[in-house]
Amino acid sequence: MGIATINPATGETLKTFEPLTATQMEVALKLAQETFEQYRHTSLAQRSQWLLTSAEILEQQQEQFGKLMTIEMGKPLKSAIAEVEKCAVVCRYYAQHAAEFLADVPAKTDASYSFVRYQPMGVILAVMPWNFPFWQVFRFAAPALMAGNVGLLKHASNVPQCALAIAEIIQRSGFPAGAFQTLLVGSERVADLIADERVKAATLTGSEQAGASLAAAAGKQIKKTVLELGGSDPFIVLESADLEVAVATATTARMLNNGQSCIAAKRFIVAEAIAQKFEKQLVEKFEALVVGDPLHSETDLGPLATPSIMEDLDRQVQACIKSGATVLTGGKPLSDRSGNYYPPTILTDIPLDSPASQEEFFGPVALLFKVADIDAAIRLANSTPFGLGASAWTTNEQECDRLIEELEAGAVFINAMVKSDPRLPFGGIKRSGYGRELGSQGIHEFVNIKTVWVK
Ligand code: NAP
Repeated sequence: MGIATINPATGETLKTFEPLTATQMEVALKLAQETFEQYRHTSLAQRSQWLLTSAEILEQQQEQFGKLMTIEMGKPLKSAIAEVEKCAVVCRYYAQHAAEFLADVPAKTDASYSFVRYQPMGVILAVMPWNFPFWQVFRFAAPALMAGNVGLLKHASNVPQCALAIAEIIQRSGFPAGAFQTLLVGSERVADLIADERVKAATLTGSEQAGASLAAAAGKQIKKTVLELGGSDPFIVLESADLEVAVATATTARMLNNGQSCIAAKRFIVAEAIAQKFEKQLVEKFEALVVGDPLHSETDLGPLATPSIMEDLDRQVQACIKSGATVLTGGKPLSDRSGNYYPPTILTDIPLDSPASQEEFFGPVALLFKVADIDAAIRLANSTPFGLGASAWTTNEQECDRLIEELEAGAVFINAMVKSDPRLPFGGIKRSGYGRELGSQGIHEFVNIKTVWVK
């Protein structure tokens, strides 16, 4: 697949792009490095003002940017607009808090005085996925720019117009031309970019394979990386939970972004005592969802982003059924329409030794498991190679404490669905990656930490 906008709702190719030539790439790298040398000396107040302008542009044109996302990757327009609004929030958050996060940190020692200073690293490469085409980029760009770094974006090949629009927003806000550039290149060019001495570090949000490949290339050059990778988040419902709210939230948590979210709830682990009721209500909720044109306001679930995502999902579901799983609803692509439409699907009776119980299902498919008690729930929740988020439902305080302590995840949400919030760090453990975005932790990933001792 080249670099192109292909509407997932119709299969129509709307625009194609030529990848950058080697000469164009050199021009971009040179501009990035030269810009950094000036940009690092701009004041925090100035950067903050530019970032606030980005927030204003995002808010003023939220409809237009939202539509761009919907047309390139298929998320319902209302969610796309909400995503643009959230990008404005993260810009404001770092514009307001960066000075506090980046201030010198004094340390009491036997020096006359000593402290820690945070300084920018330089040109940072961001390799980003298509599923939240604006949000993933802004949650990197806002703190990186505030810290005095400059960014190079290699976005997913199916969202080139979003990638170009983001660089344009940042430039229109007043940032220097080389502070944030989009490079339209395929993934085969990433290793060369990392090897370039002007690129100082890289972040990747995407699959395990892409993350491993980027980290290997960066490792050879001894360059820092942050990896935000896949997940198979558990959604645990214990006997004391408010079942009605849990079922409604389970539906939202699984279907968000047409089921293609790293922190979507993917495995539903339910106490036997309430499993029958949960199952019945979840089937009702899934079957009531409106699947259709993502540009229509009543649509809950649009198409999957690409035909290959739908083929992969179908293959996983069929393998799961073959291994002994039962289909409660859905189960195969909707072949009565053009576009990559897959129905809300629930699978149960999944053998615990089948590959399906270990994999990430990147689409609207819920895997339902019944467990005897909290011990079994925690054991099952922790049994995958992933550790991104975990949602758990209980009104029992002791159970709550155990879930917080024992679930292996970068985030645990009790009686709520897992979400990202600029005020809190976001990231995974195990094969879901390392490093953190957002919060005060996020801005410290791409800074050099200088220890200062004055006698
Ligand atoms: P992907 O295929 O890994 O693509 C992500 C980005 O990596 C794209 O820009 C892609 O470029 C690039 N890429 C692919 N292979 C590469 C390689 N070998 N070396 C360097 N770059 C490479 O992932 P996706 O299918 O777009 O996204 C789905 C995955 O991302 C899921 O596993 C999901 O859970 C995860 N994700 C994680 C988070 C998080 O915050 N933890 C957030 C969102 C998504 P091309 O498009 O040009 O191939």
